[in-house]
Amino acid sequence: MKSTKPHVALLASPGMGHLIPVLELGKRLVLQHEFHVTIFVVATDTATVESQLRNLPNPKLLNVVSLPPVDISGLVDPDASIVTKIIVMMRETLPALRSAIISTTRQLRPTALVVDLFGSEAMAIADEFEMLKYVFIASNAWFLSATAYFPTINKRLEEEHINEKKPLMIPGCKPVRLEDTLEAFLDPKDQVYVEYLRLGVEIPTADGILINTWEDLEPTTLAAMRYTTSLGRVTKVPVYPIGPLVRPVMQIRPTPVQEDSVLGWLEKQPSESVMYVSFGSGGTLSSNQMIELAWGLELSQQRFVWVDDDASGAFFKVDDNGSDGTPNYLPDGFLTRNSDKGLVVPMWAPQAEILSHPSIGGFLTHCGWNSTMESVVNGVPMIAWPLYAEQKMNATMLTEELGVAVRLKEFLTNPIVEREEIERMVRRIIVDKEGDGMRSRVKDLQYSAHKALSIVGSSYNSLSKVAKNCEASLQGQLSKSRG
Ligand code: UDP
Repeated sequence: MKSTKPHVALLASPGMGHLIPVLELGKRLVLQHEFHVTIFVVATDTATVESQLRNLPNPKLLNVVSLPPVDISGLVDPDASIVTKIIVMMRETLPALRSAIISTTRQLRPTALVVDLFGSEAMAIADEFEMLKYVFIASNAWFLSATAYFPTINKRLEEEHINEKKPLMIPGCKPVRLEDTLEAFLDPKDQVYVEYLRLGVEIPTADGILINTWEDLEPTTLAAMRYTTSLGRVTKVPVYPIGPLVRPVMQIRPTPVQEDSVLGWLEKQPSESVMYVSFGSGGTLSSNQMIELAWGLELSQQRFVWVDDDASGAFFKVDDNGSDGTPNYLPDGFLTRNSDKGLVVPMWAPQAEILSHPSIGGFLTHCGWNSTMESVVNGVPMIAWPLYAEQKMNATMLTEELGVAVRLKEFLTNPIVEREEIERMVRRIIVDKEGDGMRSRVKDLQYSAHKALSIVGSSYNSLSKVAKNCEASLQGQLSKSRG
């Protein structure tokens, strides 16, 4: 392949929350900068991955290479956290990635390798082949600041944060309260703690860090990463806020949509009247919590679309012989009583399309960063129900800083969120005046996101800087090979 355009290799770790934004980043490098892009995918769920690849506007746009699955069963404690398992899987994939990069170098050697958070060990391969190396954080700058600063505070962390319950102080950034902190920071004896320390050391060895955020969303945190404050500095590596990277909606509307689909159902609902409920690709609730959620939705008397990944089969409906197909983990008769108001979607929903539908009035979300971004770019206010990872930090940002979400109250003594609380929150967003204020603030953010991505916007400009570095590096490679 003879070309004057750089070839960039991206590595996506398992999980749709990682793959989806990596694909978007790949698409931008192709469409905005005409780069050649290869995406190396480490997948555990091939069917869902393939469904994402089918969403690509042109299958030839990106060269997607699935790395062979690895067996980590003897390498990690079966009870280890999912993050530990992903990290070990990424480690075991390194030889296959190396071989795959060698085979691509027969065409055009990649100029840069972009890894996501859990792929940072692969940067050693970039060094070996003299490639630029970037880390792509598919989350926000505040989360990055906590992760990158973690090794600096490691020694005091146990005493101050865990034992004395003091907030985590990060130079120039909002402190992280203990109740919002990452689980990975809480137990120095757990493997995930050790792995996170390593990530915090490795990430700043990159040539740059790309983040799925934008300047006007996190101005203070991003500024803190560029200047030394009295407390020090989080990282000296250049940071490039390039977001929001979200999957654009498939052009289903205004073409007639299938009556029997969630989008068909949404077409028949009033504007901004439906609460969309989803906990992402990995969030699960206990069976008692599912019952409370079902009652909360029902008591609110508002419309809803609930993606339930415990469910299987087609949409739930009351069938012809009168039997109510309500699964046994939901309250008896739930589907019959809510048949005119709600839809329970099994397994996986076209979330980007749902959130862009004018009938959606709110999103009850686990605050995964991709879901958060998708809500913001569609101007949809949220109910924050964070479950794990950095979701509690995200919820705090959405409620306390940006004012675009309400947060469900969790009680340490009773981990179940009660039906009355859920009912109240749904009504606060869909019915009460308070929802209007949040909706107007989230629409301001929606505008700010579109501005950042426009050709004169800050995120477009940030990605262009990365592209220029890659172009300069390619020119260097070419003159070396000629000389
Ligand atoms: N998603 C989807 N359909 C579903 C559930 C999730 O399309 O039924 C997509 C969602 O739009 C988002 C991603 O999967 O892009 C989930 O990423 P997020 O960061 O929100 O959460 P995670 O799954 O990583 O916890």
